[in-house]
Amino acid sequence: MILDDIYGVILERRRNPSPDSYVSALTTKGKDAILKKIGEEAAEVIIASKGLDKQQVIHEMADLWFHCMVLMAEEGLSHSDILKELEDRFNKKKEQDTSGCIFCNIISKETPAGIIYEDENVMALEDINPQAPLHVLVIPKKHIPTSLGLINRDNELIGQLFQAANKIATERGVAERGFRLVMNTNPEAGQSVYHIHLHLLGGRPMHWPPG
Ligand code: 5GP
Ligand code: ZN
Repeated sequence: MILDDIYGVILERRRNPSPDSYVSALTTKGKDAILKKIGEEAAEVIIASKGLDKQQVIHEMADLWFHCMVLMAEEGLSHSDILKELEDRFNKKKEQDTSGCIFCNIISKETPAGIIYEDENVMALEDINPQAPLHVLVIPKKHIPTSLGLINRDNELIGQLFQAANKIATERGVAERGFRLVMNTNPEAGQSVYHIHLHLLGGRPMHWPPG
């Protein structure tokens, strides 16, 4: 990634100062000089953003970003330190939304439920209000309110949901006959629990289109 490449050059210019290197010159002046530069670049971002020239904003933001990397090197920080902080914040924000979630309470075993399958990431339980002879809910242990909240990192998890559903369908003898997997998203689709779940329905002929 370009950020790592640039950061590598910054580290190199610190290790082996060269007379015509901007980074070497700035670093030699000390931390206050770097901080002053960051202040100036931040001001330039503000000025550019008040104007109409998007390209100028990009230019100034790149300058600011670059000088933040120079400060990272001064502080002995790596990109992974910053990325980890952002990731922790993001995950914490998601976790905060789990209070009062019925399925999270079932997952944490605070609420008893007819759990029929469990592994590291997935759980399955009999639906409390079955709509077919077989009606199982396959849910991720991670709290994701709707399918719209899925991110790239969840791709494997979604595959695991389907695999667990297939396993249960096979065990319950509906794999060959046929079964239906449904995920409702938001009110018009009838979603009532805002922690994503795959409905596994089987044991009777299914109508199409669904109601
Ligand atoms: P949705 O309407 O969100 O697609 O599906 C939610 C499903 O969760 C419904 O089929 C409903 O019957 C089921 N359900 C709601 N609360 C509970 C519960 O506490 N335990 C179990 N096992 N199923 C529940
Ligand atoms: Zn939840």
